Amino acid sequence: MIERRDFYIGGAWVAPQSGAACDVIDPSTEEPFAVISLGGQADTDAAVAAARAAQPGWAETPKAERVELLARILKLYKARAEDLAQAMSREMGAPIDFARTSQVGAGAWHIKNFIHALDMFEFDRPLGSHAPDDRILMDPVGVVGMITPWNWPMNQITLKVIPALATGCTMVLKPSEIAPLSAMVFAEILHEAGVPPGVFNLVNGDGPGVGTQLSGHPDIDMISFTGSTRAGIAISKNAADTLKRVHLELGGKGANLIFADADDKAVKRGVLHCFQNTGQSCNAPTRMLVERPVYDAAVETARAVAEAMEVGSADRAGRHIGPLVSAVQFDKVQALIQTGIDEGARLVAGGTGRPEGMNRGFFVRPTVFADVTNTMTIAREEIFGPVLSIIPFDSEDEAVAIANDTDYGLTNYVQSQDGARCNRLARRLRAGMVEMNGASRGAGSPFGGIRRSGNGREGGIWGLEEFCEVKAVSGWHEEAACH
Ligand code: NAD
Repeated sequence: MIERRDFYIGGAWVAPQSGAACDVIDPSTEEPFAVISLGGQADTDAAVAAARAAQPGWAETPKAERVELLARILKLYKARAEDLAQAMSREMGAPIDFARTSQVGAGAWHIKNFIHALDMFEFDRPLGSHAPDDRILMDPVGVVGMITPWNWPMNQITLKVIPALATGCTMVLKPSEIAPLSAMVFAEILHEAGVPPGVFNLVNGDGPGVGTQLSGHPDIDMISFTGSTRAGIAISKNAADTLKRVHLELGGKGANLIFADADDKAVKRGVLHCFQNTGQSCNAPTRMLVERPVYDAAVETARAVAEAMEVGSADRAGRHIGPLVSAVQFDKVQALIQTGIDEGARLVAGGTGRPEGMNRGFFVRPTVFADVTNTMTIAREEIFGPVLSIIPFDSEDEAVAIANDTDYGLTNYVQSQDGARCNRLARRLRAGMVEMNGASRGAGSPFGGIRRSGNGREGGIWGLEEFCEVKAVSGWHEEAACH
């Protein structure tokens, strides 16, 4: 058993003040392999106090110094890539090759993009030539509480910690108690890179414990949360009494609109994307909307892709998908597949139960439903497993109506070789992001959703602005030096 009982507070690993412990489970074996501590109020308070004490000094560091610090973090992150990959693979079940490339790669990509964004970022801006005595200062928000999920641990942690460091904020991170080990490796990286004591703090804990303590804490200025819509609502309510800023990246139910003129890889690409990370991605294209003339062929392609998809242990090399993260997720996904069957969707691949020959581990069968209607539970709820729902449509208007008929609004997808139609749909789809014809997001592109998918944006310049307060100054002395 790996013992990682300490928290990182004030620049050192310190023993927890509460005695509660929590096993970390390997989803491929269902066996515990590590133990962490669950913090209590005293641990949270100590971390918040350390962050508060460090904040004024950190806010004063020149931008160039912070750029250099981020560059050192990136170098060390790359040097520890294998440790990060091993930790994530074990704690959340990402197959090791996928962990090495995509899971670790996402974090490196964000750090690199933020270095560029910070370099360009103007913390001190003129209001405009019409008002020469006015100035806009982008101040750090202050002390940020960060609460992250288990599905893309380094992706989500770097999207919060790096811009907070960049803008002069200090922070307390509570990673998911299900996947805490990679976050602790990341804390070691920050320490080695020379992040000053108190600027970054890490306290492990669960939602009802440290999560609730952070979101209600009177000395925290902002909560940056990624996770379920359920928890996002609870956090918003809990944060309301202190009126702190709440930034939410929540669930999704992405629609992938496939028109008859889509390229011939569009369906396969959509299925693979839906199943990526064993379907545990908020931006997964889980509703595949297919134009009627190509509907039967799309269903057949989706069936073949799902049936060819290998499921296997996270420690095995290869391009298979791994288990779901936990028993809770396993039971939830099984129940939703059964609901799809009960509500009359046509099961064309997969179904309930584990894949043949697998008796242990939270493995599920890659599943495809056809003839789904948008009112069915499987088309409305975020499943967070490798389950695709295919829905036919007859016109562009109908496709838009179905796509927009959801509580969520994170990412939608369009597949068509008609450029004018693509651009029109990009405007008509209600979501924070629209990706067309397999194009992937460019460096620094803002990530985030609307409605029950959350608010605010992460990544690039927008991701830096999230951690800033806009201060308007009038009567600015243009000639006077600041320091
Ligand atoms: P979760 O909401 O259960 O947990 C996420 C984090 O919140 C964990 O650290 C947990 O301990 C904490 N938490 C839970 N309840 C809390 C509460 N009441 N108060 C404070 N903290 C609380 O989510 P999860 O199961 O870990 O992650 C999966 C969810 O995250 C999915 O719904 C997925 O769509 C969403 N997600 C969204 C994005 C995005 O950027 N939009 C990215 C990844 C995941």
